[in-house]
This record gives sequence, structure tokens and C-alpha cells, in this order.
Amino acid sequence: MIIVFVETSAAGVTETSLETVTFARGLGAEVDAVVVGDLPSGAADELAKHGVREVHHATGEAFGAYSGAAWASAVQSVAAGADAVLAPGTPRGLEVLAHLAARLDVAMAANVVAVSDGVAVRQVLGGAVLEEMRLADSPALLAVAGHAVEATPAADAGAGTVREFAPEVAAADLVARVVSVEPVESVDASGLTSASVVVGAGRGAGGPDGFDAVAELAQLLGGALGVSRVVTSLGWRPHHEQIGQTGSRISPDLYIPCGISGAIQHWAGCASSKTILAINTDPEAPMVTKATYAVVGDMHEIVPAVVAELRRRHP
Ligand code: FAD
Repeated sequence: MIIVFVETSAAGVTETSLETVTFARGLGAEVDAVVVGDLPSGAADELAKHGVREVHHATGEAFGAYSGAAWASAVQSVAAGADAVLAPGTPRGLEVLAHLAARLDVAMAANVVAVSDGVAVRQVLGGAVLEEMRLADSPALLAVAGHAVEATPAADAGAGTVREFAPEVAAADLVARVVSVEPVESVDASGLTSASVVVGAGRGAGGPDGFDAVAELAQLLGGALGVSRVVTSLGWRPHHEQIGQTGSRISPDLYIPCGISGAIQHWAGCASSKTILAINTDPEAPMVTKATYAVVGDMHEIVPAVVAELRRRHP
């Protein structure tokens, strides 16, 4: 049996959780879900449609707010005898699973995109490398990478029977918990997707302080700044600026990717740009070989020089 830690929002089961349930189904065993805290109306039916046999719903005052350790203790109380426990690769999914791994003293695989014959394939180095990890422990703990599979209803729906339970929570497990939530301003990524010029920056930027010149170039050209996934994974820039398979799709008149290798997942988001001018130190980088034009050289020299020339011509 496989247990999936499922996250919900007011709107129901999250998409990444449905992806994880779909992924779990592919492992060939019966799938149960565990929901901690709120179980919105309709969530159990949605899970049933995706093949879930039983929904273990942990209730109790302690679960009114999120706490990684307390939520992991709730998952642990239904995990006995499971072959695997899966969670979506979200911040909460990863945290709950990491706590569970420590409690059970087993290994955990994060960013998993496939499993076969007891070996998990997982993304490492921001998705640049796929690593195979033998799953020697029981239960296997897997955090499934976002978009590893598409969420699809099961051919045979599950019963989706809800079983409520109220696990004991140790005071120590509530030491770190959410005590208040501040809403953030909603982020509008439409500037990036509708811009006629996009200046991109990748790992070649070198660090969080390496984006000033590209941002200035984007501004001078009346365009937007976009980045690769490595940049968002490393926390150098926010996710809403990411271009690619798991970011925004752009189709500007001109895309200027600087220090971006042009991995297939990035290319998926920028291939429909009308003109691509790559700036890269590596003449063999896929972005350079596929671009309309390329400048082979250091973005930290070239971009400031272009900015200076634009400023000279348009003071
Ligand atoms: P790298 O691949 O490390 O390339 C850095 C480039 O910078 C190199 O070409 C290098 O020659 C050049 N460079 C270094 N220094 C300089 C310098 N000073 N001046 C000029 N050039 C320099 N990636 C995305 O971008 N978007 C996605 O949506 C996305 N989704 C993914 C989904 C999945 C399921 C997976 C597995 C991966 C995904 N990735 C995505 C990651 C993708 O595979 C690459 O790892 C990522 O795009 C690489 O980012 P990068 O080009 O910035 O870094």
C-alpha cells in the first residue's frame, strides 16, 4: 500500500497533490491519502476520482495551523506497513517528508521524476542532472517533483472513504509552527509573457548580485527580465521570472539569453521567440548553436558595454 500526503487549499486538493496521487498509482499498489487539518468539501471525491481508496483525515486543534513536525507525526501514525509514503515536492511536502524520514530513520528521495525496479530517478543540481537512487529502506519516502507527471483521473475510481482520526501530538512537535499568515501582494508575470523584448539571465550571472546589468538592459529596451530555473532554484531571483517548461512561455520579438545554456526545459519556454541573440562564453552551448545570432564572450563584459552604448546613443 502507498500513502500520499495530500495538501489542500480552500479550492480543494492542490494540483501537485493530484500529480503525486497519479504518480503513486503508477507504482502499482493501492493508494491511500492522508490529509492533515482542513479537508475541504469535495476533496475526498476528487481523490476518489484519482484512484484513492481511503482518505485518512487527521483532525484536532493541533492541526489547525501548519507545523512540519506535528504534521509528520500524523502521517507517521498511518504509515505503518506502507510500502512507500509520497508527498508533493512543495515546501510543505518536502518538510513533512524530511521530518518523517528522521522519525523513521529511513532515507528520503526528493525531486523524484520516476521509479522503476526499486530505483528512484531524481533531479539534482537544479534539474541539470538525473541521479538514480536505490530505495533500500521500507517504507520508501519519495517527494515527487512538480510536473513529473500530469494529474489524471484513474480508469477505476477509488472508494475515497474518509476515515477521521485524532492523533496525539507531543508538545515538542509544536515548537515550530505557523502562528500567523501575512498575505503577499499578488505577482503579475504577464509583463514577462507579453513583453516584445526579454533579456534572460542564467547561472552565468554568477550570483544574486549579477543581474544589475541585464535588468538595466531590459529596462533600456523597454522589455522584461527572465531567468533560468537554476537561478530561481538557487534563490537568486523570484520564481515568477522563470522561463521554461516549469516557468513562463515567452514569444517576444527579441530574446537575449545571457549565460543560459539552453537546456531543453528552458528552450521549451522560449523557442517561439522571433529572434534570439545569445550571449555565452561557450560556443557549443545549445542556446548559442540554436540562436539566430550569438555573441561568444563574458556577459559581465558584453552586457555593460551594450548598456553603455545605448546610454551614449540615447542620453
Ligand atoms: P547552466 O546549464 O549551468 O548554464 C550556464 C551557462 O552560462 C553555460 O552555457 C555557460 O557557458 C554560461 N556562462 C557561464 N559564465 C558565463 C559568463 N560569465 N558569460 C556568459 N555565459 C556564461 N530550466 C529552465 O530554465 N526553465 C524551466 O522551466 C526548467 N524546467 C525544468 C523541468 C524539469 C523537469 C527539469 C528536469 C529541468 C528543468 N529546468 C528548467 C532545468 C534545466 O534542465 C537546466 O538545468 C537549466 O535551464 C540550466 O540553467 P542555466 O542555463 O542558467 O545554467
